[in-house]
Amino acid sequence: MEFRKDRLSIMKHSAFITLLSIGILSSCNPKGTENKGTDSTATKKLSERKIVDLSHTYSSETIYWVTAKEFELDTVFAGQTEKGYYYAANNFSTAEHGGTHLDAPIHFAENKQTVDEIPLERLMGEAIKIDVSSIALDNPDYLISIEDLLAWEARHETQIPNGSIVLLETGYSQFYPDKVKYMGTAARGDAAVRELHFPGLSPEAATWLVETRNINAIGIDTPSIDFGQSEYFESHVILLSNDIPAFENLTSLQELPEKGFQVIALPMKIEGGSGAPLRIVAVLDY
Ligand SMILES: [Zn+2]
Repeated sequence: MEFRKDRLSIMKHSAFITLLSIGILSSCNPKGTENKGTDSTATKKLSERKIVDLSHTYSSETIYWVTAKEFELDTVFAGQTEKGYYYAANNFSTAEHGGTHLDAPIHFAENKQTVDEIPLERLMGEAIKIDVSSIALDNPDYLISIEDLLAWEARHETQIPNGSIVLLETGYSQFYPDKVKYMGTAARGDAAVRELHFPGLSPEAATWLVETRNINAIGIDTPSIDFGQSEYFESHVILLSNDIPAFENLTSLQELPEKGFQVIALPMKIEGGSGAPLRIVAVLDY
């Protein structure tokens, strides 16, 4: 059993190295000329490519679902010790679902993967961004539609690529951490759920993605993949039942092109977790 575990982790590790090597192996541009991302044969080493941090910082301002326990950081020690060296350490506590985090399939689908069971291959790889911010910023109840997804495909004259990670940009991360502007209310508790207003993915579009496209994961720059006024969280159920994890409360999507980048999304590896805090970055092809 232990041997098998080790082999699995070696295999996963090799997949990660392979991904990172894409940039290194293809760094065959001797002149080092600028490649503006129109060429899919990216020419720069990983260390020379633009990396965009898509995670919010955890702090006392971190936004949580209105019923979830918020982030706390307690100082254990910070200062000079009697032995002459400096030492700092803290304890922290948090709900799984708050700040930039991942929803594991089991969050809305019984017996599905927990956060530690999601294959790393689903969380790293080619990504696209679908920008609906020009419409969504005018309507906090906006539902991203099949037409929005088809419009991306028409703009780029290609289908949403197989195995891609799809990021949805509503523009709402610019309001974070102002709860009223970001999610419609600063109230907390069960009664506050009905006061939530922010855009999300329509259940019809979630179904369309599952039935007609083949994506690895999905992310959005609002608190939830379902819009704030959702009662039955249908997009969660549809996506997570089909093993498609969701990244929520993303930021800085405006710094990404609509295609030509990779995503690496590594959640805290909580055994049995229904979700977890997530460090997610985009690596641009240039
Ligand atoms: Zn969540």
